[in-house]
Amino acid sequence: MQAAVFRAANQPLVIEDVPDPTPGPRDLVVEVKCCGICGSDLHAASSGTLPSGCIMGHEFAGEVVEVGAEAKGGFERGDAVTAIPSIGCGVCAVCLSGDPIRCPRVEIMGLGQLPGAYAKYVRVGSNETVRLPEGIDFRHGALAEPLAVGLYAVQRAGLSPGQEVMVVGAGPIGLAVTLWARFFGARGVLVSEPAEGRRAMAEAMGATATVDGASSAAPILAEKPRGGVDVIFECVGVPGLLGQCVGLAAPRSKVVVAGLCMQPDTWVPGAALVKELQLQFVLAYRKDDFALTLEMMASGRIDPWPMVTDEVGLAELPEAFEGLKKPAAQCKVLVEP
Ligand SMILES: [Zn+2]
Ligand SMILES: [Zn+2]
Repeated sequence: MQAAVFRAANQPLVIEDVPDPTPGPRDLVVEVKCCGICGSDLHAASSGTLPSGCIMGHEFAGEVVEVGAEAKGGFERGDAVTAIPSIGCGVCAVCLSGDPIRCPRVEIMGLGQLPGAYAKYVRVGSNETVRLPEGIDFRHGALAEPLAVGLYAVQRAGLSPGQEVMVVGAGPIGLAVTLWARFFGARGVLVSEPAEGRRAMAEAMGATATVDGASSAAPILAEKPRGGVDVIFECVGVPGLLGQCVGLAAPRSKVVVAGLCMQPDTWVPGAALVKELQLQFVLAYRKDDFALTLEMMASGRIDPWPMVTDEVGLAELPEAFEGLKKPAAQCKVLVEP
């Protein structure tokens, strides 16, 4: 099969012929119909941590073409599905509770352990696979993953209706948090984002106000009755931002960190202590978050389409991937192999 293969840091992906995946007993093979390009792929490709030969791509939907002998879920050839891009052991308590990402034996797809979906076919776990409901095409199916990240973050924040939130960064995760914060009844959703095009996307997806950067939010937050919002979501993941969020947070409020920062960072814990802040770090989602996201898209109650800025074929993926490394008007780019 054809796949877009990572060969070396800071070099374009290469379209190569690689062996088709074969399913283990509890696995499925899915023909990839659509796969989103994720910011963490861009980070990984430049970080020097990915092995040569790795196939990325963890936001996908497609059609089941092979079913392992012991696969669960009653899947059949031709079923339209998406999947959590990780394969857990399938038998431990966390796997059985629908949270395979937290399985002690989990293997992650698309970031160097298991192959991802920048390819014609991908192997997934039957336990991690979710059917696309009626009315959901593969492009929306591929958006379930980034949207589920936002849903999980908002749930972990314990957001109550009527609360005010700020979202730092309007990349796909910040936009997904914006959408779900509005869905769960936030009174106000203030989004900080330097790129004008992404501020417009935030407004289309539920922001009630936008500013061009976290520091520009300070005067707006100072006007709020409690001196800030109830929850600040950090959705960027660069050094310095956590400290900045702590500085902007109101006393006894929460800072939820969804941005993945892999560099050392310094901030002053005392600044959080005097405000009695709650800090919550969040990773990924559970299977239920995929199911709810898909159902809400199918019934038209959420619309993630404003975040999609381009659709390309597999042959154009390396070029689109390079383009996303430079600041541009692009946000979520979908690949249709
Ligand atoms: Zn991702
Ligand atoms: Zn497990």
